[in-house]
Amino acid sequence: MEKRKYYQPDAETMPVEEIKKLQSEKLVEQVKHVYAHVPYYKKLMDEKGVKPEDIKGIEDIHKLPFVSKSDLRDTYPYGLLAVDLADCVRIQSTSGTTGKRVIAYYTKHDLDIWSDCCARALVAAGVDKEDVVQVSYGYGLFTGGPGLNDGSHKVGSLTVPMSSGNTDRQLTFINDLNVTCLCCTPSYAAYIAESFKEKGISPDQISLKAGIFGAEPWTNEMRRTIEKGLGIKAYDIYGLTEISGPGVSFECEAQTGMHINEDHFYAEVIDPDTGEVLPEGTPGELVFTCLDKEAFPLLRYRTRDICILVREQCSCGRTFIKMKKPTGRSDDMLIIKGVNVFPSQIETVLLKENYSENYQIEVSREGTTDVFDIYVELLPEQFDDTVKSIAEKEKALKGAIKAMLGIVPNVHLVAPKTITRSEGKAVRVIDKRKLVD
Ligand code: ADP
Ligand code: ZN
Repeated sequence: MEKRKYYQPDAETMPVEEIKKLQSEKLVEQVKHVYAHVPYYKKLMDEKGVKPEDIKGIEDIHKLPFVSKSDLRDTYPYGLLAVDLADCVRIQSTSGTTGKRVIAYYTKHDLDIWSDCCARALVAAGVDKEDVVQVSYGYGLFTGGPGLNDGSHKVGSLTVPMSSGNTDRQLTFINDLNVTCLCCTPSYAAYIAESFKEKGISPDQISLKAGIFGAEPWTNEMRRTIEKGLGIKAYDIYGLTEISGPGVSFECEAQTGMHINEDHFYAEVIDPDTGEVLPEGTPGELVFTCLDKEAFPLLRYRTRDICILVREQCSCGRTFIKMKKPTGRSDDMLIIKGVNVFPSQIETVLLKENYSENYQIEVSREGTTDVFDIYVELLPEQFDDTVKSIAEKEKALKGAIKAMLGIVPNVHLVAPKTITRSEGKAVRVIDKRKLVD
């Protein structure tokens, strides 16, 4: 039987004009629903002097007020709920990476669209009912596990609900069950690849063909490392609890950005300082509107993720707009010695220079001066080098990082296995300045 190319072809290949029409219809209804059922958002609209009747189509979306994480905090736990709690069947919660937990609610209908979105991502990665999908994202309140689990059910694949952790068991199940698709964070995928290597299992002996990796920023260099290490094609997937979970957007075989499920989510990119909507192709803060969710339908939610939107004809035939890989969240951006630094920039340099993906950035302050340290693990084959050659390597790496950032870090090449491996979202930055500020 021929593999299917799309999970929901009518939606995924819909002409752009029709997408806009559908979005307009859904937005008009959604604004009425939210205005009638969420007093908090009604107040925000009233303060801005905008009424549901003013929203006649998607082109009017800019009239609506934004919501941000602080609104979620202020209304915790039920303040943004738009249906009776009795109609909700599930909650999920953010992983609290930036310290503030958020609870999102789902009706049966909301879970249904969310799992459709994940099913689209799996099919785009070449998965069908003959496949065995190991879901090694955490299960529980975190959306990663449940999202991909339910998407895999919808596709009809054999689903292995592994959750994260117990890496030896991960490898055993992949081998014993001939798992073909692995879903986890990219940092955990790299750890799994490293563990296979240590056991002397080469990429061509691993049954995996594809991987769906997301929930944290990762570079194309990291993609190549994972693809090589596991002998697979690695696909990106993006999402956030506030909007539903993984599957807000997903990558296709072109690997040039993630198609946003535009029939459910409307994306804008804004200038984070002024709130002005930016044209496609310009980097800025990503903002999402849930067009047809019932329980927790955020309108114009500011994600703080920095990225670029591009609408281009894609070789996969999907018409949905793409978002480029997010460079990170605006709150991941470090300001060191007055220079903006994203951990992803450092990752790019390290992997280009053939270092391992295991690194940690530490920033502290001596007096009024920032101290910028990067710890990078040597690969086992690099570890035998002499002290002199290690000093030379550190110097060269300093130079490469300076060329990327304009500032010079202290580079420390450390022994293999000294940096803690991640089973979920990796901790790349330790900013000690926050403690003294
Ligand atoms: P938390 O905010 O606590 O981490 P979530 O688990 O909902 O909660 O994580 C959502 C966030 O994870 C997104 O806003 C984004 O910053 C990040 N993220 C998710 N997928 C990707 C991806 N593919 N690339 C980069 N960042 C991602
Ligand atoms: Zn595509």
